[in-house]
Amino acid sequence: MTISVDDGHPSDLRTVDLLLKYGLKATFYIPGANAERTVMKPCEVREIDRLFEVGSHTLNHLRLTRLPAQEAWQEIYDGKKFSEDTLGHEVVSFCYPGGKFNRRVAAQVADAGFLAGRTCRYFLNDYPKNPFVWDISTYANTYPAYVQLRHCFLEYNFAGAYKYVTTFKARVPWAAQFICALEDVSREGGMAHLYFHSWEIDQNGEWDELESLFKAIAQYSLTPVTNGYLYRRWHENRELVSSPLPA
Ligand SMILES: [Zn+2]
Repeated sequence: MTISVDDGHPSDLRTVDLLLKYGLKATFYIPGANAERTVMKPCEVREIDRLFEVGSHTLNHLRLTRLPAQEAWQEIYDGKKFSEDTLGHEVVSFCYPGGKFNRRVAAQVADAGFLAGRTCRYFLNDYPKNPFVWDISTYANTYPAYVQLRHCFLEYNFAGAYKYVTTFKARVPWAAQFICALEDVSREGGMAHLYFHSWEIDQNGEWDELESLFKAIAQYSLTPVTNGYLYRRWHENRELVSSPLPA
């Protein structure tokens, strides 16, 4: 069971308090700067890193698929260096701004030395085949079912569209969707991955819903981990599978 919190808005500090209250783990994907909204001060980012994990969300939160290759590379590589300089240690987790990625961008994220790239493709509770297309279970925003399905198709996420109707029972409220993910993972294994923006929770006045969901998560015997923990596990498992057995 893992949680992603994107964008590094100052309202993340309220999320931090809730995560601590319920003993949950999370990865905060924080860009160097963001023209769309405020980003926390470096001292606040370091405080979050002390308690949870901070991942890279590029240098300027630009949509990478719209940039020429060299500019996309600078955003990815310089963003990693920026976060590492801020925190004083290696940063292994990456998330695509706006969820926008393609083969070229995913390869650049791998070349920059990240372990994985988290997408915004939902309704998937499985370990990915490719860690640079690391999908999630639930995005905490309420859209009608047809919008959810359209989003799945636009992202070529056909498995997600199928699971939305079956495993997620076409539920509209996001907290109810994530309960479906928790049930599915408790039964079948895999990982339940909740993703949200604190600024959006704040804007929609949904802090009570978020807290109720955090409380509900504690009822399941799933282990709360950071995204980075899962990324490392993915690579360790692959090494186990691919390394030849001793003679
Ligand atoms: Zn973002």
